[in-house]
Amino acid sequence: DIQFQERIQQQSNQRLKAPWAIDEKETMVSAAVIYPRGRIREDFRGNIYLSSRSGYGQYLRRRETFPVFTPKLGTEDAAVILRQLLQVLRVAGLVEEVAPPEHDDDAPGYQLPGAALRWVAGDGTKPFHDAIRMPSASEAGGRTNRFFLEFYRDIAYEGKGLEAREHTAQVDNETRQQREAAFKEGKLPILYCSPTMELGVDIATLNAVNMRNVPPTPANYAQRSGRAGRSGRAGRSGQPALVVTYCTTGSPHDQYFFKRPELMVAGAVVPPRLELANEDLVRAHVHAVWLAETGQSLGKSLKDILNLIGESPSLDLQPHVHDSLEDEKAKARALTRARDILSTISDDLKEADWYSEGWLGEIFKKIHLNFEQACERWRGLYRAALKQREIQNRIIGDASRSPSDKAEAKRLRREAEAQLDLLIESDKVMQSDFYSYRYFASEGFLPGYNFPRLPLSAYIPGRRERQDHFLSRPRFLAISEFGPRNIIYHEGSRYVINRVIMPVGDDDVKTASAKLCPQCGYLHDIWGDTAGADLCEYCNTLLEKPLEQLFRIQNVSTKRKDRINCDEEERQRQGYEIKTGVRFADHEGRPSYRRSTVEHPGEGSLAKLIYGSAATIWRINMGWKRSDRQTGFVLDTERGYWGSNNAAIEQDEDDPMTAKSIRVIPFVEDRRNCLLFEPAGKPELNQMASLQSALKNAIQTRYQLEDNELAVEPLPGKDERRVLLFYEAAEGGAGVLRHLVDESNAFAEVARTALELCHFDPDTGEDRRRADRAKEDCEAACYDCLLSYSNQTDHRQIDRKSIRDLLLRFLQAKVSASPTGIPRAEHLQRLMNQAGSELERKWLRFLDALHLNLPERAQVYMQKFETRPDFVYDDSKTVIYVDGPIHDYPERAERDARQRENLEDFGYTVIVFRHQDDWREIVSRFPGVFGNMKEV
Ligand SMILES: [Zn+2]
Ligand SMILES: [Zn+2]
Repeated sequence: DIQFQERIQQQSNQRLKAPWAIDEKETMVSAAVIYPRGRIREDFRGNIYLSSRSGYGQYLRRRETFPVFTPKLGTEDAAVILRQLLQVLRVAGLVEEVAPPEHDDDAPGYQLPGAALRWVAGDGTKPFHDAIRMPSASEAGGRTNRFFLEFYRDIAYEGKGLEAREHTAQVDNETRQQREAAFKEGKLPILYCSPTMELGVDIATLNAVNMRNVPPTPANYAQRSGRAGRSGRAGRSGQPALVVTYCTTGSPHDQYFFKRPELMVAGAVVPPRLELANEDLVRAHVHAVWLAETGQSLGKSLKDILNLIGESPSLDLQPHVHDSLEDEKAKARALTRARDILSTISDDLKEADWYSEGWLGEIFKKIHLNFEQACERWRGLYRAALKQREIQNRIIGDASRSPSDKAEAKRLRREAEAQLDLLIESDKVMQSDFYSYRYFASEGFLPGYNFPRLPLSAYIPGRRERQDHFLSRPRFLAISEFGPRNIIYHEGSRYVINRVIMPVGDDDVKTASAKLCPQCGYLHDIWGDTAGADLCEYCNTLLEKPLEQLFRIQNVSTKRKDRINCDEEERQRQGYEIKTGVRFADHEGRPSYRRSTVEHPGEGSLAKLIYGSAATIWRINMGWKRSDRQTGFVLDTERGYWGSNNAAIEQDEDDPMTAKSIRVIPFVEDRRNCLLFEPAGKPELNQMASLQSALKNAIQTRYQLEDNELAVEPLPGKDERRVLLFYEAAEGGAGVLRHLVDESNAFAEVARTALELCHFDPDTGEDRRRADRAKEDCEAACYDCLLSYSNQTDHRQIDRKSIRDLLLRFLQAKVSASPTGIPRAEHLQRLMNQAGSELERKWLRFLDALHLNLPERAQVYMQKFETRPDFVYDDSKTVIYVDGPIHDYPERAERDARQRENLEDFGYTVIVFRHQDDWREIVSRFPGVFGNMKEV
């Protein structure tokens, strides 16, 4: 009864305070009516329709249901039984007829009277068996879960009336402070915290800290546990405090410290790793120096620097902001200061691929442009909200539209207004993602370490007393967490990602295509009408037809969802199928990366290692895993709603789709330092899965990285693993992956750690069979070695014994830079044999002695240019001439010059080493070609 419900709702609002009152936006549940027939089009979906094909109808038709009745019941028999069953129940007073049939063939609707219900508590010994869903009960009659039994019987009773709140970065600052204060005063007995409470919050009387998992490092542990028992430290008669840490079974990290608690509780606090010569990081700091020199304040929100005047504001920089950003004097001062600062890390910069003399100058040339670009996400959100408000206003003012259209339009307009407020509200913006300085940091323009870089936002509509929100997530997580119709949880409520906040500007949704190499997963993105590469630029494999309709997912919107059906729950559990592609960064039009080989003294090359800094990674959401092979998702390009993918799942009635919808494949893009590991001799799938886990764990252990700082994925995909893609997830990167290609012993050390983790003695190869304090032997793998919560889908593949021999060989191997993937010494010998003169051989020996990169090929005839350079570096498109005295003759010199100019016109770098030159000086000018000199 809707009116009765409304009355209760009103009363609850008058007499109860939050959170107990019924929210005004709360969708009320009404009792369903049951009809013994199938559902037809105009039927209300909230009712239940019992047809002979429904679950219950099937149950009736099962042989086991009426064992004495031998012929199988047909659907028509079942339909008759269903009708009669309800009639009989009505006679007995167990159901009431509430809706009379509308015509002769129709069946009446029934409801269950409250008085006919009996609630009987079970004794906790026998679990409920649902005979409709599960035809046969399990033999033993099932088992009850002792935890829940005790929980509901005893513990829950004691917890009655206890209030608990959360304290996380997602809670706005004001509320957070209120909760902190209430907690300090003891009014709020329990506070659930994220690391927001880790630092600086002192509560003298706090006497218990529970950690729901083991913190990443001893430093975090010290901070978190140190929140308790502080009154004792102050010298007063302090009470002891209790710190309990819960160690999750599925987490290798937690299990490791469960067995070695002293390493966590009294462990050394390791300083964090940060790669100083990370391009993004250095650039952000240079920007900060520049901004300081301009003296320009960014205000509180972007409202303070952009032009928001008028109906459709330009969102350009305000004139005074524009002027101060263009201030050449400020730029000059900043350049000088930045140069001084960079000189303090010159040793690190020397090692960096991206750095050159001209780098800083380029940054200052592009600084204004970069600043404008950093404003774009904000502009996109603001324009989208303005447009939404405008469209909905039009619908509301249109007399011809239906009341339901208008109600929908009002809801969407409210949402748009709330979004606009969030973007410009200056008093509440300080702690929000749209506080100017924080915003520019998250866009990577300014330095910042505490929040996701280049995040995606999800709009969460507020409930009473709670403001609207934008949640932010790093984009690689957002591709699945904010994926189409995914469910997220926030402040105890459930939300479904139902909409994309559509970018404004283009009428059509902009999509791209891409070819992913079927062999190695290398990414070839295609924008516009070009055909794209035919061969993989990385491994030369023939590429297949491109993935089309790729849609760069931006910000999304959610709505509250009170109920979730089991189908959605199952989808949720299975998750999406995510594909990954990688592409190395271009430096002056060429992909830049370093190649090395893992070389065994007796067996030659065991694996290739390729490192690329700031490589482009795409993560592509192909669809729900358990879907009918359909790729992608249906997107309503007019309203931005995500359609449900599966025809069996009914469309969400609250999110009506317009006819303008297309199927798209969402993706996100980011730049990360990454390492491709390609073992020789194509190991089996189980070996690759085991290596993947072993190398990741070993790298993390050796370099003390947290689990979320290093990611690994098999390429081209899970079913065929040829290459392992490792990438650094940490903001700024930890510089670990580069270390693995640069240091000749680093990989062997990782292999040693991996052997130890896999319970092998690294020196003898002997199987120790289990971890130090483990109680049982480890057969294929255990949580002490290769299993972890996050690699559960690989558990059946993983076998530590399958990689023992491989790891033992890695242990003896050295890593050396090699352009072709064969051992350096062998390659050098080949080049020596091909060399045309003693001077060229001298040049090769010179490179080798200084551990510089060797060319790929020697004496290559280039027909187009009618020239035969002495050496070629294919990767960097560089040709080398080592000129003896004969080239000094004027005629020869002239011909040389002509050919070489021609090469340069076609984008080649030509480097000439004349016999009388200072060769060291020449190589030092081209670190991108030769690498940096290392004298041993
Ligand atoms: Zn390839
Ligand atoms: Zn094990």
